[in-house]
Amino acid sequence: MSIASIMDTRNWFKTIPETRKRKLLASQREGLWIEVGGQRLLNFASNDYLALSTHPNVCAAAKAAIDQSGLGSGASRLVSGDSSLLHELEHKLAAWKGFEACLLLGSGMLANLGLIQALADRHSHIFSDKLNHASLVDGARLSGAKVHRYPHLDLDNLEAQLQKYPADKCMIVSDGVFSMDGDKADVSGLLKLANAYDTLLIVDDAHGTGTVGEQGKGLVFEADVSGHERLLEVGTLGKAFGSYGAYILGTSEMIEGLRQRMRTFIFSTALPECAIAGALAALDEIQITDVVKKLQNNITYFLEQANALPLMPSQTAIQPMLLGSDKTALGASNQLREQGYFVPAIRPPTVPEGSARLRITLSAGHDKQDIDSLTKALANLA
Ligand SMILES: *Cc1c(COP(=O)(O)O)cnc(C)c1O
Repeated sequence: MSIASIMDTRNWFKTIPETRKRKLLASQREGLWIEVGGQRLLNFASNDYLALSTHPNVCAAAKAAIDQSGLGSGASRLVSGDSSLLHELEHKLAAWKGFEACLLLGSGMLANLGLIQALADRHSHIFSDKLNHASLVDGARLSGAKVHRYPHLDLDNLEAQLQKYPADKCMIVSDGVFSMDGDKADVSGLLKLANAYDTLLIVDDAHGTGTVGEQGKGLVFEADVSGHERLLEVGTLGKAFGSYGAYILGTSEMIEGLRQRMRTFIFSTALPECAIAGALAALDEIQITDVVKKLQNNITYFLEQANALPLMPSQTAIQPMLLGSDKTALGASNQLREQGYFVPAIRPPTVPEGSARLRITLSAGHDKQDIDSLTKALANLA
């Protein structure tokens, strides 16, 4: 093959149709507002569910940490990047969520890639909901395990597959609140199956944490199965906590095993203290103030106002409106943008073919007026 043909990018990347192209938007965010291409828009597209990323206490804690110890951590935790702040957050998260132990990771993506790779090998079997987040899908691939996908939330199908593929090491893997649909896994049902078929259960509640249930403790806590010996919970600090990073919760034994084995923990720079200090302050806000209640009230209010819209069945902060074709979804997103709202169109391959949608995410920072005006704009879409 000649140099000229190797250098032709079409040999590496298939051409993507214009309606499928992912585009970066160098935006400027200011609280609930986002400035894109010179336009100031009300942001309904952020996972900053509790508006804590801009909270004065959270930002002050992060700044103080920078003043004290600088920006970067300088090394992985096992070399010299560990700090007492990381241990403090691990203890507090474990206690808050009702688990024995916790391990902080660089991001949710790193947590899931490393977690599944550490637990499974080519002799293992992984049972995975078809709509699981890409990080769980890729973690399973990276582990080399045999992967069995089950239709979204279909526990009967899952059980049939568990019967069909017995193995020494099995695990069931599921999102808690699903990131593109906003619906919820049946955590109790999953754990029942895990018990019956002797498997582990991993629940990634990145979107349920800080949003669902009492104090926003999430789906696992709501199902009253926190700390169960078969259960590992994953979550991120980049969403409701308004910071960056991720955590895994489990038994002390399991977490110690991961400390020894997880490659994305061992071979990656420790989180900066500013991100941790910010997350600690965010946890205080979540525990002490009514910020989670505010979000939950906004969700209830939105559902009342939007009951005539073709929303997908979701009781969470993620409210998708199904539109079908890529073109319709993009058109709707652009129309909303012209009216001052930032609501992204989510298209395949992120969601299944033919299910392009608007994905509205609500925040504790929105007020009734924001929600009223958005629902009017949604109802008036041409
Ligand atoms: C956002 C998300 C992740 C990735 O977390 P990051 O910290 O952004 O890397 C993982 N799992 C789920 C379910 C998510 O929604």
